[in-house]
Amino acid sequence: MIAQGVRIGGDGQAANRRIHSLANLLREQDRQDSAQRRLRLALGDETRRAEQDEPVSAARWQELSAQLDSFASLTAAAQPDDVPPEITGTLAQARLAAMNFVGAGHGLIDTAQHDRARIQDRMPAFVAALKDLEAARTRTRELLNRTIGQAVDDNVVFADESVSKFILGAVLACLLLLLVALWLHIRVIAPIVAIAGRLRNFDPATIACADVPCLDRQDELGDLARGLFEYQKAVEDRQAAQRRIDYLAYHDVLTGLPNRLQFERRLQAELAGGQSEDWQAAVFAIDLDEFKEINDLHGHPGGDVALKHVGALLQQCAGADDLVARVGGDEFAIIQAPAPQPQGARALLAHLASAMAEGERAAIPFKVSIGVAVAAPGQTPDDVYKAADVALYRAKSDGRNRARFYDAGLQEEVRLGRVLARDLEHAAANGELFVAYQPIATVAKQIVGYEALLRWHHPTLGMISPTQFIPVAEASGAINQIGLWMADQALAAAARWSPELTLSLNLSPIQFREAGLGIDLLKLAERHGMPGSRLNFEVTESATLLGKNRNMVLDVLRHLQGAGAAIAMDDFGTGHSSLSDLRDFGFDMLKIDRTFVASMLEDRSSALIVQAIIGLGHSLGKAIVAEGVETEAQLSRLREWNCDRIQGYLIGRPMPDTVTVPARVASC
Ligand code: C2E
Ligand code: CA
Ligand code: CA
Repeated sequence: MIAQGVRIGGDGQAANRRIHSLANLLREQDRQDSAQRRLRLALGDETRRAEQDEPVSAARWQELSAQLDSFASLTAAAQPDDVPPEITGTLAQARLAAMNFVGAGHGLIDTAQHDRARIQDRMPAFVAALKDLEAARTRTRELLNRTIGQAVDDNVVFADESVSKFILGAVLACLLLLLVALWLHIRVIAPIVAIAGRLRNFDPATIACADVPCLDRQDELGDLARGLFEYQKAVEDRQAAQRRIDYLAYHDVLTGLPNRLQFERRLQAELAGGQSEDWQAAVFAIDLDEFKEINDLHGHPGGDVALKHVGALLQQCAGADDLVARVGGDEFAIIQAPAPQPQGARALLAHLASAMAEGERAAIPFKVSIGVAVAAPGQTPDDVYKAADVALYRAKSDGRNRARFYDAGLQEEVRLGRVLARDLEHAAANGELFVAYQPIATVAKQIVGYEALLRWHHPTLGMISPTQFIPVAEASGAINQIGLWMADQALAAAARWSPELTLSLNLSPIQFREAGLGIDLLKLAERHGMPGSRLNFEVTESATLLGKNRNMVLDVLRHLQGAGAAIAMDDFGTGHSSLSDLRDFGFDMLKIDRTFVASMLEDRSSALIVQAIIGLGHSLGKAIVAEGVETEAQLSRLREWNCDRIQGYLIGRPMPDTVTVPARVASC
């Protein structure tokens, strides 16, 4: 288009130059015309004066002659190069006519100077030359005017055409530019903008790799897109790895629950804002009971199943804002988000209790113990967790499968428990343990034997009740060793008694985990020369409830019975034994718990229970022993109800050794 413009501009200039040149020629003709007119008039005037014989100076004739010559040179002047060919001929004719005119003029001057009489003769030739010249000049002028007019018209038409062409060219050029711009936009700019946008918004967490545009293009933009795709993928891979690392740092892989670290952070955050009076967070420390046994019985995969099941149940119970974590091997914990307490914790505990009942019925059954601590103002996360742990410890030592709330007294209790556990390890070796014997008699008060009861004289704490230290020994496992030590002592003492007296030994449920318990006891008895027929073994109902240990318990009891020993169910009526348990375990004796005996004279239902136990025991062929008989009134009522034997302060308190120590020695 620019070339077109330049060409049009050039053509226009050439046309203008031509018109200009023609106009110059026309002006030249005008100049020659006026020169010719002046000459014609001057020559006419002077020749007329010469004809009339008026004097005309020679100088005047010379002047005219010179004017003719300059006219000749004016007409002969070289014409410009750009004169159109059609004019060149006409101009040449005009020049020729001018030469003739000049010649005729010179002739006339010459005649007028030298032969005035012949002026008349000369005049026609001069006039004819003049007419020729004027005709030639008229033709030249007309031609020039026509040519100029034509040139101007041509120029206008040319200008019109040029403008049209120019506009058309411009439109085409614009169209072309538009197409190029469109192509550039679609093929280059839009993809670059899209890729740049992807880069700008690049967020590995939300953008999928496939979102990068132009991946399939085989040009530089395709390379760029593939580069971005690779980069995005690499970042995503790294992010995924980082997420996995973060997940592992804060989660337990087996259960998928938050781990101890996350638990600690959450507890820290929960307590950071301080606790209000009405709304407090609570921590539940939860521990699987007998997890070792679950592993022993079902293998580690079975243990894992139980752990996952516990985790799932806990999560079902916890609220949306609570956090359930696995904080150790078989330890779980819940952070209960702030709620009105203790109602909030009690409500969650109720949920947990019913969920855990499901655990007891599972293919791999389990039970849990729970310690609960409500965060008090000013407590650190560590304080609260330790408090929950203390409550858990207490729940465990209370016999497991139960929950305890933390309170200030518990702290002291647990601290003491820990001291006892530590000191108990060396108590026997230090001579702090000894055995007391409590008589068991017929309803006619005839002593038939003694129950051995353990005593601990702590060097600083004084006498410690077995109700306090036996659970501690059970929790630490020391009961196995202590139990055998105790049996050894008692058997040694009983061996010195009158041979018709029996010895009753208490066996803790924990001792039944040792499969060789029966063998060990009988070996000891044999060593002391005590026949099996003089031995009674007392087990509590909880020993019969050891689900998976049931067969082991039965084996030990059968073994002992096989040697002539009798088995007594201790504290009967307080536990959960079923009648089928009574049958399966083959007890020889039932010991009615002393709480029933203590209240049976005043409380009708206690009386009915005691009577029922006696009736039931007799119908099953068992001997019945009533514990805790303190009064003659109790004894006479028991006698009425056909109770077989009694034990209690009425007959005698537990004493160090009934044979070697006189009966008057203070009871212990
Ligand atoms: P237990 O087997 O039921 O023992 C009887 C408990 O009742 C003894 O308490 C005894 O002192 C107490 N008692 C006896 N007659 C009366 C009475 O008329 N009135 C009252 N109020 N109490 C009476 P102790 O010696 O404190 O023993 C408590 C428990 O500790 C025992 O209950 C037994 O379960 C356990 N225990 C004691 N020695 C041993 C032991 O060597 N091994 C095991 N595994 N447990 C033992
Ligand atoms: Ca007992
Ligand atoms: Ca008892």
